[in-house]
Amino acid sequence: MSVSDSETITVVKDMGLVTTVFNERTLSCLPGDLAIGHTRYSTTGASTWRNAQPVFRPVGKAGFSIAHNGNLTNTSDLASQAGMLPGVVASDSDLVAELLANEFPTEGEGLSPMEERATSRDLESALRRVVPTLAGAFSFVAMDAEHLIGIRDPNGFRPLCLGHLDDGHGREGWVLASETPALDVVGASFVRELAPGEMVVIDTDGVRSYSLFDDSSVSPKLCVFEFVYFARPDSVLYGREVHGARRRMGELLAREVPVDADVVMGVPDSGIPAAEGYAKASGIPYGQGLVKNRYIGRTFINPSQEDRDRGVRRKLNPLKESICGRRLVVVDDSIVRGTTTRAMVGMLRHAGATEVHLRISSPPFRWPCFYGIDTPDQDQLLAAQHDISEMAGYLGADSLAYLSLDHLFEAIGAPGAGFCDACLTGNYPVPVDRAAVVLEKQHVSVPGREPVGAQRLW
Ligand code: SF4
Repeated sequence: MSVSDSETITVVKDMGLVTTVFNERTLSCLPGDLAIGHTRYSTTGASTWRNAQPVFRPVGKAGFSIAHNGNLTNTSDLASQAGMLPGVVASDSDLVAELLANEFPTEGEGLSPMEERATSRDLESALRRVVPTLAGAFSFVAMDAEHLIGIRDPNGFRPLCLGHLDDGHGREGWVLASETPALDVVGASFVRELAPGEMVVIDTDGVRSYSLFDDSSVSPKLCVFEFVYFARPDSVLYGREVHGARRRMGELLAREVPVDADVVMGVPDSGIPAAEGYAKASGIPYGQGLVKNRYIGRTFINPSQEDRDRGVRRKLNPLKESICGRRLVVVDDSIVRGTTTRAMVGMLRHAGATEVHLRISSPPFRWPCFYGIDTPDQDQLLAAQHDISEMAGYLGADSLAYLSLDHLFEAIGAPGAGFCDACLTGNYPVPVDRAAVVLEKQHVSVPGREPVGAQRLW
């Protein structure tokens, strides 16, 4: 978290779960009424302290902080244009911070009048100059000592919403959040989603809104996997609650690929609403068969395969009485590498299931995502390497079937044109320079401007 008391910005960040990084003592050392925070999962850049966010740069009056949800696709171009050199661990988010910092004049720097005019004096104007040069997926929250700023890329790949706080006694505030449940938690009312390409600047005068991009480059492409997997079920996206959409995915799945079975169960957590929908539409009773250890994070987002394998074994535990001697329909939201699914099917068989029929509430995940999900290599995607019957054999299932793309959009209730579905169709809304993605792994830095805590790894 970065917190401002309007004079000084204090940053506290570390590796690990929020509850292990922050406690009452830490929070009491963070005075102020303007703040941003972020829990990062590493899609580019290593999982290191330096890459924990928000990223801070000590430029201007009190410095600035920025946090980034998404993934840029033109980092090598940006880095070479700015004359940055490879050599220090960072991330695409760190690169953005560096580009913004470059917009601020160095103290004591003698600038000509022309240079003065070309130089940003504050975070807002730095963002106005830098953000239109970025490509890919980015929802940003940024702050200096007195302003809170939110920005969504022109495709709106990742969500970002605005909320309003009013304590009823004259104290008001504004909140930006990736997902609407974060507003509920602090008692803020939902105002609206930021539009793709929009920047909002919030200060003591209220909220100002700007468009940072030409109309021709604005084209809504919200990640469809926000509805399938990422977002919390109580999130509202495109005006629709995610939980209801997931239930409808399950209902349509039951009609599209029915199977004779004794019980329907969902893979916790995001497979459960779809399983409820499948049970309702099929008439097969719903039952809980898997218990999730709530203290283990999403195995999908652990950075290494070794971490993921260990995570799967600890993550799910079967309820033997619900499973033994039964034919199961097991509903999950997706199969990426197949790691979790294979281990889970093995557990269900070990617990006595007589049949295991896998039903997936989205189409096969066949193409890598370059917009903020850590699946860069197609050879790691099970559905890209095998047909459905081969996959069923590998996973140990009696049958495997998926929801069609048309039914996925029907379940969401929004036109498919407003979504990115590149990992399902191969239609990438923003061109991806594969070389840039490779370079991104090597990272960039400006000599002499390495923030405290930088780790030189090569
Ligand atoms: S490629 Fe898939 S996961 Fe990535 S943003 Fe598009 S829909 Fe979402």
